[in-house]
Amino acid sequence: MTLAWHDIHTLDPRQFEAYEEALCARAQAGEAVLGFSRLSRCALMGAFEDPRRALRLSYIRDRFPIVRRRTGGGSLSLDPGTLILVLAFPSPRNNIKPLAELMASLCAPLLQALSQYGLCARFDAPNDMTVEDRKIGSGFLLRDGDVIVFEAALALSLDIEELLKTLRLPLEKLSAAGILAARDRFAPLNAHLPDLRTAALHSTIALHLAQALGLSPQRERPPCPKTRSPMVFTEDCVPDVSAFLKTPGGVVYIDVCLDGTMVRRARFTGSIHCANPKTWARLSDSLQGSDITRLGLTLDRVLEGSPDMIGIDRADIVYLGHLCASRHAISQHLDFSAARQITIFSLDRTIAAQDILAAAEVVLLPYCAKPSWCKWRHRDGCPECGFCAVGEAYHLARQRGLQVVTITAYEHLCTVLADMKRRKVSAFLGVCCTDFFLKRDYAFVDAGIPALFIDIGGDTCYTLRLEEAAYAGRFEAEASLDARLFANVLQWRDRLKADRDVEVGRASGLNGVL
Ligand code: SF4
Ligand code: SF4
Repeated sequence: MTLAWHDIHTLDPRQFEAYEEALCARAQAGEAVLGFSRLSRCALMGAFEDPRRALRLSYIRDRFPIVRRRTGGGSLSLDPGTLILVLAFPSPRNNIKPLAELMASLCAPLLQALSQYGLCARFDAPNDMTVEDRKIGSGFLLRDGDVIVFEAALALSLDIEELLKTLRLPLEKLSAAGILAARDRFAPLNAHLPDLRTAALHSTIALHLAQALGLSPQRERPPCPKTRSPMVFTEDCVPDVSAFLKTPGGVVYIDVCLDGTMVRRARFTGSIHCANPKTWARLSDSLQGSDITRLGLTLDRVLEGSPDMIGIDRADIVYLGHLCASRHAISQHLDFSAARQITIFSLDRTIAAQDILAAAEVVLLPYCAKPSWCKWRHRDGCPECGFCAVGEAYHLARQRGLQVVTITAYEHLCTVLADMKRRKVSAFLGVCCTDFFLKRDYAFVDAGIPALFIDIGGDTCYTLRLEEAAYAGRFEAEASLDARLFANVLQWRDRLKADRDVEVGRASGLNGVL
């Protein structure tokens, strides 16, 4: 049997969907097909990604099209400097590997091909290919019925600035220093192999992939797929409650629309690799009509075994449901819809929001919630001058004997967390944007201290309201701390502590009697 392969010099992104479809149809008919192409400027989204979370739609607008891949994983900012590979072949019936294993085994022939050029690249789970810890490309995978679809993006050259503007990354990265730092994370092939002839690279990769599949490579004429209309985003129903979980396989989100406490609609999204493209849709459907307060339990019941995903398992999905139910419960308890933005952080996933809050000893506030004119903006502390919500937060927390720290930089956060860990602080209340929490969660994971996080609104380092200023390198994000929500949370803490004091009093009274 042969591996039929072709290359297309440049593919219009609007042809990509039909192109994938054509290759999959041939694989369904029993063929193995491989194609190399370069897409003109576009954003190529993962199969399960939410464009509003993954892309800067305000920058993309009608500058270039957005297309969705069949395979999962993260979104890409593409131009003809990226080589796109699509491989579709019938799934072997007697040797079904888990997706994670399959990913490693399909990236391996690409790495072998690169080694022919003297490049020592390695696979970096879950789906990256790196040279000296710098990314040269990524693999994306799907098992759709009887067909396996493997896609890979290899950076030949890279426009880092366009990438940072297209994907939802923090705006400081658009500064000269930020671009340099981001550039350090990538290693496009032309930096290592300036004389690389891509035609030769295609046939070397085709040879190695064919060998890995036990086939012989055979070159064919490239197809001419139809052009389709680019994606149009319609506003879905705005979710009443959402939750997210960072896993080794990527971030997974759940958005739920409610009728009272009944789930009217649920949706899972994220940069995850999932073997069966219908898994998320089925899970969403099975939540319809269920009770939000029991979302974790319902997911535990409806999940059949552990779905084949990379870096995310059944327990993660169940916990995501639990987090969503907790957010809803907190907002009900505080009778405040903004409380749906409160996130529980507990490494062992066992501590309830109430226990974390009652045990909180420290409040961490971000400098960005202070006004840009405040001379305390980039300093820890606040004299409570009364001109902003941060001052109010300081006042309320200090009243209760809580230590308050303004976090002025990531390094400062690490120092503060290390000190809290050394002092065995039981829990803390943190305020930061969700994007920061997701991108820098390892700082909190390292400290391991349970926390409740209140999400901030307004302009964050990740929003692009003042686009021109942002592109000019001025990044004065002014986020807004919801003072009422903060006060409500501290009052809840007061009630919890009072209840606990009563319980302790009762227990000691009982001990006295006994
Ligand atoms: S209350 Fe504190 S943070 Fe806010 S403006 Fe005054 S000094 Fe600055
Ligand atoms: S918006 Fe504030 S919390 Fe978010 S990353 Fe920027 S400084 Fe940090």
